[in-house]
This record gives sequence, structure tokens and C-alpha cells, in this order.
Amino acid sequence: IKRNANEPEYHQAVKEVLESLVAVLEKHPEYIELGIVERIVEPERQIIFRVPWVDDIGRVQVNRGFRVQFNSAIGPYKGGIRFHPSVYVGIIKFLGFEQIFKNSLTGLPIGGAKGGSDFDPKGKSDAEVMRFCQSFMTELYRYIGQDIDVPAGDIGVGGREVGFMFGQFKRIKNVYEAGVLTGKGLMYGGSLVRTQATGYGLVYFVDEMLKAKGMSFAGKAVLVSGSGNVSIYATEKVQELGGKVVAMSDSNGYIYDANGINLDTIKQIKEVERRRISEYIKVHPTAEYHTGCEGIWTIPCDIALPCATQNEINENDAKTLVQNGCKAVGEGANMPTTLEGTKVFLDSGILFGPAKAANAGGVATSALEMSQNSMRLSWTFEEVDAKLKTIMVNIYKNASIAAEEYGQKDNLVVGANIAGFVKVAEAMKAQGLV
Ligand code: NDP
Repeated sequence: IKRNANEPEYHQAVKEVLESLVAVLEKHPEYIELGIVERIVEPERQIIFRVPWVDDIGRVQVNRGFRVQFNSAIGPYKGGIRFHPSVYVGIIKFLGFEQIFKNSLTGLPIGGAKGGSDFDPKGKSDAEVMRFCQSFMTELYRYIGQDIDVPAGDIGVGGREVGFMFGQFKRIKNVYEAGVLTGKGLMYGGSLVRTQATGYGLVYFVDEMLKAKGMSFAGKAVLVSGSGNVSIYATEKVQELGGKVVAMSDSNGYIYDANGINLDTIKQIKEVERRRISEYIKVHPTAEYHTGCEGIWTIPCDIALPCATQNEINENDAKTLVQNGCKAVGEGANMPTTLEGTKVFLDSGILFGPAKAANAGGVATSALEMSQNSMRLSWTFEEVDAKLKTIMVNIYKNASIAAEEYGQKDNLVVGANIAGFVKVAEAMKAQGLV
């Protein structure tokens, strides 16, 4: 606790995992003797650096950059980069810690890491974002590589930012190392489906949860929080499967459209114009806009997909969702539900897909991008999408089996943590005290 003081998000992530591992540690006392738990909560390496850049009116700006390389037991470090003013070491550590287990769950050989900066891309020009990304990479390049650590996008980091960072890496190192970053543009080593992967993967996962109980997305009313990369492609897949997304949000407020959200309008506003979701009602005047993003959880729904950020569903929000008849929750964002909120969902018996399992499709497809880069060839959309779907179905199966094996049938929080942990613990055991 003292070593990680003032990092509540990191404490929350660790508490959730460790509480679900009690039965595993009883079954494997050697994990305790070998200090697996003490080692797994201490990052292998933490890098914090200055990022100076010049804005459009010539002023010097300084941000702080982070890369936390958490665990490399099963593969090179892998995890996204987040640009958001709320970023500090506790956020990066919670995300990096979760990433260890998520990456293990995908079944692919990738270790856990996360990075980012307190830089706020909102309202910045393309030129400012480029100068910032170049400065960020001018320090980060020392610590990454296709066999060392492979960053990707996250909040505030999409194709534009990955492109600027890749260009700077190539310029400094004088090497075309396509596999050093994932989420690249299709013309320079990116993979088809990577843009859609987290959102599509989330919906494939939730679909498996529903099918296991004889349900489906068809005709269901769905809430999707956020309106970024994960939210947009989760909405697209829900609509394809016959569900009706009735609300989306951003950090200022939410929109409610009883006719079902028009995704073309959302893509135009968010992906092309980079504007606020409140613009939606100018195009669709029968829809409603409400300020305050948390109000979205008061709308009655069958399925809720939190896809914005950490701790966006608290205990009261969870109670409201359950009371309003919500039957399933799938976490697209990382740790979007507080510990108290998660308890409400688990106690109520509704279907609950935790982030580590449900949103693993993004990093899984990043690993598929790395495979294609190594082979120097590209798979078709259909090939990558089929692999993504298989991975999500397997994650669901493995988490369900682990939950049942440890006497917690249908508790996918416990199941995902155990299934992700055991593989990493076994690899750490095999590799000795490192
Ligand atoms: P984007 O930056 O594309 O979108 C983020 C969305 O969430 C925006 O609508 C944003 O609104 C909203 N948001 C961000 N911060 C806050 C906040 N503090 N309060 C309320 N709303 C907020 O990010 P992504 O879609 O990529 O990521 C969303 C979540 O999914 C994150 O938790 C991320 O870690 C997780 N994730 C992403 C993956 C990926 O492949 N992209 C993979 C796995 C998980 P606004 O525009 O107002 O800021």
C-alpha cells in the first residue's frame, strides 16, 4: 500500500484480482512460496519522462509521459497508450496490471504494459498533435521494439496519433519495423478489423453470454456509453445482430433516440468532424440531448455496454440498471464499474462480462496485426474477423470453465481472473526468480 500510495485506481484493480484468486492460491501453495503475487503486482519497469512541445502560437508546453512495462512472462510487453488530462501513474498502473491477465486470456503470446500522457488532444490542431506525438516518441523509442514492447491506441490515441508516432520512430531508428506499434493505417502495415476489433469483440462476447442462457441481441434495447472507437463499433455490431442502441454519450452528456441511434451521423460527428455528441440532435431533432454523461444509466434497457472510461458505473447506477430490468452488462471500457457496482451486478444474478475478458478483442487483433507484420502479408477482413470471433468465443469458454472449476459457476469476474492468472503464474514459475 505504501509503495503505491495515492493510486486508488491501481488499488481497485489489484483488489478485484487478488480477491478472486484465494481458491487458486490454496490449490497452488507454491505460488505463495515463489512470491508470485508480490512479484506480479510490482511492474518490471516504470518509465516517466518529460514531453516538451510547441503549440500553434509558439508557446512551450510540457506534459508528462509514462510507460509501465508490467509483465513479460508470456511475451513482449503489449498495451495501449492513453492521452487524457486525467492520466497519472496510478491510471497507467491499473491499466497495465489488467492488461497482463487480458493478454493472457487471448491465448496469444503477449505480456502486459500500458503507457500514456496527461496531454489533452481535445481542441488541438493536427499540427499540435503531430508535434506532441513526435516529442513523445523521441523519448519512448528507447524502450520499445517489435520483440520488446509494442504499444497501440487507447483513449485519445487513434489512427492519426499512431501514424505520427510510427513516423517518428522510423525516422529516429532508421528502420522499417512495422511490428513496433499496432493500430497502424492499412497502407503501412495495419490490419483489417483492428479499428472495429474491441467493439465487435465485445458484442461477440456478450452474444455468447446471452446464447448460453437462450437469449440474443435481436429486438433488445441497448445503452452504449461513450462515442469513441469502442462505442462506435460496438453499436455497429449490435445493430447488425438486430439490437437497438437507444443512447450514447460523451464526457459532457448523452443522447437518447427512441428510434435507434443513427450511426452514420455519429461517425460523421465523432470520426470526421471530431465534435461533441450534442450535435446529433441538430440532425435528428426528435432525439433528446441531456447534459451529464452519468444520466445514461437511468434509461430502461435490456443490455448495457459501458464503453467510455473507468468507474463510470457506481453502486447506484448499477442498482438503477437492475431495477429497470437490465439483463446483461458487457464492459467495453477498462474497469468501468466500481467494486461496489460489480457486487450489485453479481448479487442480482444478471449476466456480467468483465472488461478483461469482454474487451480483449482489441489487443487480440493487435497481436494478429503483429503476426501479419512478421509474415509480411495481410489477411482479408473476413479472415481476421473470423479469428477475432473464435478468440472471443474461446475467452468466454475458458472464463466459464475456470469459474465452474473453482465453484463459482457463471461468475465471469472470478473465471476471467483465474484463467488469465494461472498461465502467467506458471510461466513465471518456469522462468525462475526474475
Ligand atoms: P476514445 O478516445 O476513442 O473514446 C473515449 C470515449 O469515452 C469518448 O466518447 C469520451 O468522451 C469518453 N470519455 C473518456 N474519458 C471520459 C471521462 N473521464 N468521463 C466520461 N467520458 C469519457 O477511446 P476508446 O474508445 O479507444 O476507449 C474507451 C475505453 O475502452 C477505455 O476505457 C479504453 O481503455 C478501453 N479499451 C479500448 C481499446 C481500444 O482498442 N481502443 C481496447 C480495450 C479497451 P469525450 O470525447 O468527451 O472525452
